[in-house]
This record gives sequence, structure tokens and C-alpha cells, in this order.
Amino acid sequence: APVVAVVGRPNVGKSTLVNRIIGRRQAVVEDVPGVTRDRVPYDAQWNGRRFTVVDTGGWEPDAKDRAAAIANQAEIAVQTADVVVFVVDVTVGPTDVDEAAVKMLRRSHKPVILVANKADNQSLEMEAVSLWSLGLGEPHPISALHGRGSGDLLDDILNALPTPPPIVEGGPRGPRRVALVGRPNVGKSSLLNRVSKEERAVVDSVAGTTVDPVDSLVEMDGELWQFVDTAGLRKRVNQASGTEYYASLRTAGAVEAAEVAVVLLDSAEVISEQDQRVLTQVVDAGRALVIAFNKWDLVDADRRIFLDKEIDRELKRIPWAIRVNISAKTGRAVDKLAPALRKALASWEQRVPTGALNQWLTTLTQATPHPVRGGRAPRILFATQAGVAPPRFVLFTTGPLDAGYQRFIERKLREEFGFEGSPIEVSVKPRK
Ligand code: GDP
Repeated sequence: APVVAVVGRPNVGKSTLVNRIIGRRQAVVEDVPGVTRDRVPYDAQWNGRRFTVVDTGGWEPDAKDRAAAIANQAEIAVQTADVVVFVVDVTVGPTDVDEAAVKMLRRSHKPVILVANKADNQSLEMEAVSLWSLGLGEPHPISALHGRGSGDLLDDILNALPTPPPIVEGGPRGPRRVALVGRPNVGKSSLLNRVSKEERAVVDSVAGTTVDPVDSLVEMDGELWQFVDTAGLRKRVNQASGTEYYASLRTAGAVEAAEVAVVLLDSAEVISEQDQRVLTQVVDAGRALVIAFNKWDLVDADRRIFLDKEIDRELKRIPWAIRVNISAKTGRAVDKLAPALRKALASWEQRVPTGALNQWLTTLTQATPHPVRGGRAPRILFATQAGVAPPRFVLFTTGPLDAGYQRFIERKLREEFGFEGSPIEVSVKPRK
């Protein structure tokens, strides 16, 4: 298993963090300065990924005798690690000892995740800004003691680990999971049948993957896709479609299990409230989105004009959704589906480097500053992308932003970096 070493000065909370990572509920034993501890490896697991966490003694360079020995232990731990988690006490800020540790970490050329520990509340979380000066990139504010932020940290640790060897030939991960949703009679079963027969390979299981029996594996465009929760679709020919309530529960389940949703709309009919609810379910769940206008074979020139107007009006809140015009009946443009899904998923997992994000933001906010209210205007201090799938951004500001200005930032963010086919989240953290 890959190795994660946790290092930092004495008393910054390394043991507490290790306890948190391995899910141990023991009395916390914090570092005692000057006392040598062995490097202790623990087995840990997060999101199904196993790794080893090495707890090290407090790192104190240049201290004599035993402290020096501990520093040495920590250095050895770093040398043998795949990823280093460097813990700093946010209530103290960066110290000379932390700076010295950073030099040692640089020499190691290992990926380092900077943790601002003891960020027990929001104002301490804001203090994490000061740790940018260490030059290790984005600080991760957490409270190892209370658990605040530890899930996000674990996600980032997993992301930094070397990619595991592929289980299935043809890709390091299982097939992408797709939800095929839409109101009754839009053509979900027809589309599933179409892609299943057009694209030769329909398989029920693939060695090394676990596919739920209610799912369908379909090859499209040379890639295997897992359509989730399609058992009902396959069987049903003439759908006696329960109540809308149950239909919406089924949709919610499929969307939850998927990474990307294909929402089918009926091109021959008006975009209804029920269609809107399905779209909202996907957006609220934070999944990538492809809208397939099905029954395109029924669209003539007149309908086309109405439909374009309808789209402008009804889909203006999701201009970023990828659209394909298909016919499950004739097979028209069904081959556009896989490329659309790939594009949406790429946006969904896109990561904007912090440097590029802040450079862009500085230029933007200089050109168009926040409007002045009561003699003052809040400033955006910096931004980071807090996560992916979907992309989540945090703006650290001197005060709350006007809703209109926040929407402006969001719109510009999309203009600059794309995210076609994916919802994004922007949240604001005003300094207290
Ligand atoms: P589901 O309830 O969403 O699974 O919809 P079905 O796949 O059962 O389709 C409902 C009806 O629409 C059936 O009568 C299909 O033959 C018809 N249909 C599906 N796709 C198309 C299409 O692309 N064009 C046309 N003209 N009819 C379609």
C-alpha cells in the first residue's frame, strides 16, 4: 500500500490527525518534545482505497541529542513516503522551525499536503491564509480534534497518491457511470436498446469490476459505459409508469449512483415542469449533465423555430449543459453521445491551478471591482478550487459579496475556464 507520512513540529496535532485518519477513538497522545518515538505505521482506508499512515515524532531541526534523533526519524519517514502531510498549527502560524522543515521537505521532492490544524472555527479557518507564505501551495484548514475538514483532506491525500495499477485492461478505473433519465415516454428504453444493439458489445460482467445486476454495460465509441439502474428500462416496453412520485425517486437513485446524467427531452413536445424537475435533480446532485433532445426525426422547420425559443426560455439557467439532438428510433446522432459524455466528465473533474485562478481573478476584479456600498466595497483576497466532481471554488473575501457580483464572477469563471457540461459551485468565505 502507498505510504503517507505525517510530519510537523511537536504539539501541532499529528497524533490527533493520525487518529482521525485511521478512525481510532483512543486517548490522544500528543508529542512530548524531546522524546523519541518510533515511526509507527498504521493501516488506513478511505473511499475503498487502502494506504499506510506513518506517525512521526515532532520535527525539531538543530536541536541536540534526542530531538535531533526524532528529526532524523521524520526525515527517514519522508524519504520512504509517497505523500507527506505537513502539519502546522494555525493558532501559532508559521514558525522558523516550520520554515526549516519546509526546506527539508523540498529536498525530498515528495508531494506535500499542507495542513493548517486546529482550525476549530471559521475565523481560525481564515487564518490558514497566512500559511501560503510557506510556499507549499494551498493550506488545508482542518480540525483534527473535531473532524472539521478532514473528509476533504482525505480526498486530497488520495488524489496525491500514485494511481493504483489498472484492474481492468483498457483503463485504470471501472466504466463511467451514466444515469439515463427523463419523464415517461421520452425514449429512455428505446435509446438504451439502440446503443446496446448498434454498438456491438453488450456485456453483463467484466472481469475485475463489480457491476450491479440492475445496471447495463454498453460499449460506445470504443469505451465501456455503465448505465445505472436500467433494469426497469430493459424490461418495460409499454411503460405502466407508476406515479410521478415514484418515478422521481427512481431518478434520484440513478442520478446519485452516476457520475454523469443524460436527461432525455422529447423534441416534439414542450419542455414541461416534469422535465424541469428531472434537470433540477441532476444539477442539485452536482452531476455532469448532457441533455439529449430525442425524437429529433419528428422535428420539422416550424417546430425547430419554436423549439429554439423554448430552449432559450426554459433552459437559460443551465446554458452550460451539453446538448445533442438524437433519434433513438432512426439512430440519428446517437454516436454523438459518447463524446458528449466524455466532455462533460472532463469538465466535471477539471482542476484549475491556484496560480492561474488567482492571476485571472486579480485581472478581473481590477477591471471590474465590486460595487461600492456605503463607502466600502468588499475585496476578494484569493480563490482556491476546493474540490472536483463537481468543481467547487472558495472565494476568501473581506466581506460578503453582492449576489449579483458573485454571479458575475461565476459567469466569468466559466467563460475563462469552460466547465461545459458540469455544474460548478462558488462559495464565499468573508473574513470575520
Ligand atoms: P421511456 O418511457 O422513456 O423508456 O420511453 P420509450 O423508450 O418506451 O419510448 C416511448 C415511445 O416513444 C415509444 O413509442 C417509442 O417508440 C417512441 N420513441 C422513442 N424514441 C423515439 C425517437 O427518437 N423518435 C420517435 N419518433 N419516436 C421515438
